[in-house]
Amino acid sequence: QAPMRHVVPDASDYDTTHSIEARKYLKTYGLTPPGVDTYEKQNQRALAILNSRKTPIEKYQYLSVLRSTNVHLFYRLLAKNVKELTPLIYTPTVGEACQRWSELYTQPEGMYLSFEDRGHLHTVIQNWPHHDVEITVVTDGSRILGLGDLGVDGMGIPVGKLSLYTACAGIHPLKTLPLCLDLGTSNKEKREDPLYLGSRRDKVTAEEEKDFLDELMAALTERWPGIVIQYEDFKNPFPSLERYQETYTMFNDDIQGTGAVILGGFINAVKQSGVAPKDQRAVFLGAGSAGVGVAKQLTEFFMKEGLSEEEAKKRFWLVDSQGLVALDRGKLADHKIYFARDDNGGKQYKTLEEVVEYVKPTILMGLSTIGGAFTPKILERMAELNDRPVVFPLSNPSSKSECTFEEAIKYTKGKCLFASGSPFPTLNHAGKDLVPGQGNNMYVFPGIGLGAILSKSVSVTQNMIYASAEALSTSLLKQEIKDNWLYPDIRRIRDVSVIVTAGVIRAAQADRVDRELALRHLSDEDLEEYIRNRMYDPYIESEKVNEEIRELAAHVIG
Ligand code: NAP
Ligand code: MN
Repeated sequence: QAPMRHVVPDASDYDTTHSIEARKYLKTYGLTPPGVDTYEKQNQRALAILNSRKTPIEKYQYLSVLRSTNVHLFYRLLAKNVKELTPLIYTPTVGEACQRWSELYTQPEGMYLSFEDRGHLHTVIQNWPHHDVEITVVTDGSRILGLGDLGVDGMGIPVGKLSLYTACAGIHPLKTLPLCLDLGTSNKEKREDPLYLGSRRDKVTAEEEKDFLDELMAALTERWPGIVIQYEDFKNPFPSLERYQETYTMFNDDIQGTGAVILGGFINAVKQSGVAPKDQRAVFLGAGSAGVGVAKQLTEFFMKEGLSEEEAKKRFWLVDSQGLVALDRGKLADHKIYFARDDNGGKQYKTLEEVVEYVKPTILMGLSTIGGAFTPKILERMAELNDRPVVFPLSNPSSKSECTFEEAIKYTKGKCLFASGSPFPTLNHAGKDLVPGQGNNMYVFPGIGLGAILSKSVSVTQNMIYASAEALSTSLLKQEIKDNWLYPDIRRIRDVSVIVTAGVIRAAQADRVDRELALRHLSDEDLEEYIRNRMYDPYIESEKVNEEIRELAAHVIG
């Protein structure tokens, strides 16, 4: 008796690379064109179709169909074209896809759980057809990118992000669960849009949300013990992070992933600047939640480099809309007090320019949402003050970036060590191609997720997040360092993810939150080998399926 191949039918049964024997076995013979494809021909065809689609959203739609109809083909295509396709399956295109989700909806790609389902989440979750889920990305759609509350139309975010988990860290696509919560929406336009596919109620209260999430976390973990739960694009991400981070294997990429990726580039910038951590002076334009959060991460690095907390903290000067954040300025918002200066000698510094003149910084960070705030004059001054000024305009999108890559290069005469939040094109300066660093979360979250999965961590600790940044900073090739890159080439993302994953696993072990104890005894080399072998590879996977079918077909025929 022939064993069953799939519990759940897999649309890749219709893959045109299947042999004639395989098709006969699957009873798909005659249901696909008679020719037998090669992977190369399939890739060529798919790329040609993609190129014929005119707008990014049309390309996005084609890729979604491809993922739903032949998941391995989708990932084979993505593996070969990660740099080109990422902007089409994630930002910026996913933003428009979410804005128009209900208008363009054609097929299921994830799970929707509604406030009305409360009390029964456990039962609804049983409907997910795949039995072995390792990771979920969950959003309530309440703050999608910079686009506000999009309600259930936020589903594009978990779908896109999990595609990146698969492409970058090789988490098997059928072991991922995109999850969108319908907790109502504060977006009146959505609520009144006849095509909108979510509930038309106003956003539930914080208290109702908390109860719902409590039930959700328990239900997810009950069906899939050890599942990694990544929170994304919640309007107020802090309460759930605080509430669940020690009890569940969960993290929030907007807060923790973002902090880690900036830190990873920052570590390399500090190293390449040639200035010792104790002599660094960092001016931050922007003292909002992002500015203060990032400054705190960087403080942790200075402390690991041997500074005391007090010394580390003193390396930072924060500037907000009123000027230098100082204790003698009068009442300050709570979150600004930690970094507020007490050594400004009674003087008020009102503008960034004045602060730069006063502090003579080695580092300039922008988290202010003010496009162009790093003026030519300020950039020129940074270059006068430093051999290698560190300039990180981190505000998104590009229109809000404190300066462009071109401006940074031009006004520092090519001297700056640069990373931005939004992408900028490569440019030629003095006969050399200069590549801007971009602090893209994609460098870290796939490895954080895979590290938590493979080590079977019971939680995701701050040390694991820190380790992802540190590991990222070590992932550059000699040539990349020589070219003053702060981040590795995104095309090497699978190799980078292996290194990040290994760092995360080691930190889990150090914190004793790992449950896959055998990994503790592997050498670093063997651990990387282990990780690599566990990663889903869409080419090998397709081969495996073909091989399996060949064997089964032989069994039936013989
Ligand atoms: P926020 O809470 O609005 O904070 C903005 C800060 O900038 C506030 O401290 C504000 O001053 C200050 N500011 C505003 N206008 C100013 C001006 N004209 N001069 C000087 N300071 C000014 O925003 P946020 O959530 O912290 O985010 C800030 C930016 O960081 C966003 O653009 C976001 O895209 C970016 N971000 C980037 C990344 C990344 O990965 N690259 C990660 C997170 C955030 P007051 O406090 O006086 O109002
Ligand atoms: Mn996000």
